[in-house]
Amino acid sequence: MLLKGVTPVLDEFQRPLKDLRISVTDRCNFRCTYCMPKEVFGSNFTFLPHHELLTFEELTRTARIFAKLGVTKVRVTGGEPLLRKDLPVLIQMIASIPGIEDIALTTNGSLLTKEYAQSLKNAGLNRVSISLDALNDDIFSRINSVDFPVKRVLEAIDNANAAGFFPIKINMVVKRGINEEEVLKMAEHFRHTPYILRYIEFMDVGNNNGWQMKDVVTANEILQKINAKWPIEPLAKNRDGEVANRFRYLDGAGEIGIIASVTQAFCMDCNRARLSSNGKLYTCLFAHQGNDLRQLLRSEKSDLEISEWIEQVWSGRNDRYSMLRTENTTFSPGDKIEMHHIGG
Ligand code: SF4
Repeated sequence: MLLKGVTPVLDEFQRPLKDLRISVTDRCNFRCTYCMPKEVFGSNFTFLPHHELLTFEELTRTARIFAKLGVTKVRVTGGEPLLRKDLPVLIQMIASIPGIEDIALTTNGSLLTKEYAQSLKNAGLNRVSISLDALNDDIFSRINSVDFPVKRVLEAIDNANAAGFFPIKINMVVKRGINEEEVLKMAEHFRHTPYILRYIEFMDVGNNNGWQMKDVVTANEILQKINAKWPIEPLAKNRDGEVANRFRYLDGAGEIGIIASVTQAFCMDCNRARLSSNGKLYTCLFAHQGNDLRQLLRSEKSDLEISEWIEQVWSGRNDRYSMLRTENTTFSPGDKIEMHHIGG
């Protein structure tokens, strides 16, 4: 629910600003082929120096300004957000902001110990999404490129559950010729558990993952595979702007989701703004340039002046990249921002 007296800020397609995704670091300890292929993001890749990152105070001030513009949900991302030191402190600061009702985190789970999960929960984090692209160790290693074992991610999922997070979503990016054989195995593994497995169509994020339409295992293909084995039916969205299409198993074994950004674009419901860890404001995952909020935060500008600037940026927004790509899959607007820089 919006803060009292707040009128939603609308963009050129009348989409309200509701969700803020905050990348707290551009660093990651994985090199997933669909996001940060190690051939490009090798050991000599230069990440942002610490002094360029927004401080916790700047991130909190920003979230407070966005809350007064109608944002109720914050998602903390990276790179890998758990690499940012003392993250529970930031979570606690954001959780104290009036109007912010829901704080979620997307992680690869590699650092999510029982204790860390509990400290994030105690700090006020509400939900976690954990990425896992296969149950087969060889396939998973081929994707994450750092030989990180599946077992450790499954432990992280249980650590999140033990800390009391609900719902816990498991994100699987499906790429043809790489892990589509894992689609049913993953479904079987997470049936009859409290976890919601979400399949994500392989997207042309950034400029380096070699995306081609032929490598996309479409939402329809995935649904047909599952429905043939375990009949499912659609569920209503939990809220406006939810990215996943939801389904439930007719035999009561739980829920799955599909994020079909390529074949069923959802741009007209997109109410997400994205903030990079060095303070650039982006209005689309596939944007090719950002707006420098950090220079305002580090100037004499007041919260009101910054708020007016954000309102101007959002009201001039007309992003609908996925829709345009779906209409013409060869469409490319030139260099896009890298996903590790602004989070998924
Ligand atoms: S492509 Fe851009 S506008 Fe469309 S849903 Fe994704 S982030 Fe939103």
